[in-house]
Amino acid sequence: MILLKSRDEIEKMRKAGKLVAEVLSEVARLALPGVTTKELDVHAERLILESGGRPAFKGYQPDFIRCGPFPATLCTSLNNEVVHGIPGDRVLKEGDLLSVDTGVELDGYYGDAAISIIIGKGSPEAERLVEVTRGALEVAIKMCIPGKRLSDVSHAIQDFVESEGFQVVRRFVGHGIGRSMHEDPPVLNFGDPGKGPELKPGMVIAIEPMVNAGTYEVDASPDYWPVYTRDGKLSAHFEHTVAITEDGPDILTAPIALTANRK
Ligand code: MG
Repeated sequence: MILLKSRDEIEKMRKAGKLVAEVLSEVARLALPGVTTKELDVHAERLILESGGRPAFKGYQPDFIRCGPFPATLCTSLNNEVVHGIPGDRVLKEGDLLSVDTGVELDGYYGDAAISIIIGKGSPEAERLVEVTRGALEVAIKMCIPGKRLSDVSHAIQDFVESEGFQVVRRFVGHGIGRSMHEDPPVLNFGDPGKGPELKPGMVIAIEPMVNAGTYEVDASPDYWPVYTRDGKLSAHFEHTVAITEDGPDILTAPIALTANRK
């Protein structure tokens, strides 16, 4: 069941989303060669707690798998890791492609967003993969207009990504969001247009294309976190929490400043 949000609820979600955007902006600023992913996580958790929020990923336990709960505030997925990378002692180095996903609960409402950044200067393919993934999210957000169907969003992502010679991950998808981090509907990153529920004002969805340089096939590690590309090639991930309004898309997790890697 899709839960529509009132204007008041959307404003509460914007506060959670704004904190997510601030955290990701800060992570992008700090993600330099020599820094560990654990250090980024410590900063992120502190910022969320100081702002009165709760890191939504920490302790998250999917009910459909037998693994331990996710242990951190950020998912930090490097290079061939797609999503769900656990922050640790790995030291960032020049040219690494780092995807960072985080969620926040603030006053009972959730925000969720992700960015991919290149540490210093990356290979031409890595730079292009990041730009195409960011572009896929942009074309998806433009489809968030009342009267469109949900799979119009999904189709826009797949069409854009494949026209650029990359592939979208099938196994993981976006989601509705509100008083829970994961609500209906699932938001696929692929599929034919014109299907699924009609987009209505008050729907809020987290759109999150995961784009692989090679095959779209992925494998989870035996203890579930993280997920890797099957062929070992690069993967990138961008996500925003987006409200559908009478006036079109309203990005609740904006703006995110990618200061460390953008000239
Ligand atoms: Mg999400």
